[in-house]
Amino acid sequence: MNISQLLHRAALAHGERPAVFCGAELVCDYRTLEDRVARLARHLRERCKVGPGDRVAIFSANCTQYLEALHAIHWAGAISVPVNYKLHSKELAYVLENSGARVVCVSAQLQSAAIEAGAHEDDLLVFGTASWQAWRSAGERLAMQEKNADETASLFYTSGTTGRPKGVMQTHRNLLAATMAYFTDVDDVQAHDAMVYAAPMSHGAGLYNYAHMLRGARHVVPVSGGFDPAELVGLAASIGHLSLFAAPTMVHRLVDHVRQVQADVGGFKTIVYGGGPMYVEDLRRALDTMGQKFVQIYGQGECPMTITALSRAQIADSAHPRWSERIASVGRAHANVEVRVAGANDVAVPTGELGEVVVRGDPVMAGYWGNESATQAALRDGWLHTGDIGSLDADGFLTLRDRSKDVIISGGSNIYPREVEEVLLLHPQISEVAVVGQRDADWGEVVIAFLVARDGARPGDDELHTLCLDHIARFKRPKAYRFVDALPKNSYGKVLKTELRNRLEIQPC
Ligand code: ATP
Repeated sequence: MNISQLLHRAALAHGERPAVFCGAELVCDYRTLEDRVARLARHLRERCKVGPGDRVAIFSANCTQYLEALHAIHWAGAISVPVNYKLHSKELAYVLENSGARVVCVSAQLQSAAIEAGAHEDDLLVFGTASWQAWRSAGERLAMQEKNADETASLFYTSGTTGRPKGVMQTHRNLLAATMAYFTDVDDVQAHDAMVYAAPMSHGAGLYNYAHMLRGARHVVPVSGGFDPAELVGLAASIGHLSLFAAPTMVHRLVDHVRQVQADVGGFKTIVYGGGPMYVEDLRRALDTMGQKFVQIYGQGECPMTITALSRAQIADSAHPRWSERIASVGRAHANVEVRVAGANDVAVPTGELGEVVVRGDPVMAGYWGNESATQAALRDGWLHTGDIGSLDADGFLTLRDRSKDVIISGGSNIYPREVEEVLLLHPQISEVAVVGQRDADWGEVVIAFLVARDGARPGDDELHTLCLDHIARFKRPKAYRFVDALPKNSYGKVLKTELRNRLEIQPC
C-alpha cells in the first residue's frame, strides 16, 4: 500500500468535490489535483531524472503548490524531504547534503537561499512560475509508482531542539497508520470539513491531511502562508467547519485574539493541539474562550503525530473526578500503538512511576537516515525510545514530565521544568515561561525562569517566590527570574531551551 493511493481514491470517489483553497478561493477539485500531481510526477521523472527512492526537497512556506509538490514526489515513487523554510542557507545545505536531495521544489522568494545552500539552478522547480504552470497542466500523466509499505515515503528532519537535525525515515506504513489513528482517536472527519494549514507543512502538518483527503474534505492554505489568528477567524466565519493543527503557542495566540476582538468561533470545528506542552492554565482559558473544540495529540517525528491522544470528550468532561489530572496528561495510547514507561534496563516500571516513554506499533519510524548508531540508540527490541519522561496511571493516561534532556539536576534531585512552569503560569501577569538549568559550582545546576509579562506589567521576585513556595518544594524554586520580551522559538512555536541555556553561559544570572 502506497500513500499516493489515498489521493487516487479521493479523486475516484470525490472527483468533483472542491479539494484545495487558497484562503476562501477555490483552487481545484480532487480530479484536477490528481491530474496536476501525476503530470508533475512525470516532469520529475523525465526532465529531472528523479528515480524511485531518490530524495526531493521542498523548501517553502505553506502554499497550495506545496501540496502539489509533496504528492507528486510520492506519486513518482521518490522520497519527500520537507525543509523548514526559516532555516538559514547553511542549515539547508546540511539537510540537502545529509539527505542527498539534488532536486528542490522551492518558492520564488527562497530560490536564492536554495542556490546559496548548494542547489543547482537547473535542479530547482520554482512554484508559481510559467514553467510550473505548464508542467502541472499539460502533457502526459505518470502512472502512480508502486511502493512497498515499508519503504520510506518522507524524510522528516527533527527540528534540532536537542542537537543536530536527524532525518527520520517515515514509511508509507507510518503515514497510513497516522491517518487511521486520526479517524479513530482524533476526529470524525466529514466531507463538509475544511482542514486549514496554519502550522508549517514542513513540520508534519503537510503529511497530516490524508484523513481529510479520504473523506473528500477541503484543504485550505491561508493566504498569509501560515499562522495569522485574524485570518483564521475570518476563514472560520466564511468557510465554516474549520479544523486545524496548532502548537500550544498558536492556541495561546488564537485565544488571545478571539478574546480581544470577541470573535464568533462557531465556524471552528476541531483544534488539534500538540507538539509541545500545553499548560493547564492555557487550556482552561482556551476552553472558556472557544468551547469544547480541543483534542490533544502527543507524537514526535519518530512516531508521526501518533503516540497518545486526549479526546474532545475527555477534555470536555469537567465533571469527572479526575478531570484536573486528565487535562494535564497527554491522554491514552492511540489504537494502533502500545505505550509503556520504562525504567533502568528498559523494564516497564509500576503504574504511577516515572520513566522513559517507549512506543511500538505501525506508526514507528524505520530509523534515522544514514545514522545507524542513532537508530540503534532509539529503536531497541522493537521499541522506540522517545527521550520523554512520563508516567502512566491505572486508567492508561500518560502524563509527561519533560524531555530527559531538559531535566534539571540540582543538588542530586531531579527537577522537571514543566512543573515549575505550570506554577508560574498561575500568576495572572505571566503570559509565557520557560525554565532551564544553569550550571552551578555548588549545586550542579540551579533553576532559572525566563518569563514574558502580560501587558508589560512585571510581578516582583518576592511575589513569584511566594507563589512557588505555595505549590512546590523549596529546592525547585527558581534562583532567578529573567523577564524577556519574547521567548526564542522555532518556526513551529517550540521554545528553544538550548538557546536559553546558551544565553546563560554568556550572561550568567
Ligand atoms: P529534536 O528531536 O531535534 O529535539 P523536536 O523536539 O522538534 O526536535 P519533534 O518530533 O518535533 O522534535 O517533537 C517531539 C517532541 O515534542 C516530543 O518528544 C515531546 O517532547 C514534545 N511533544 C509532542 N507532543 C506533545 C504534547 N502533546 N505534550 C507535551 N509535549 C509534546
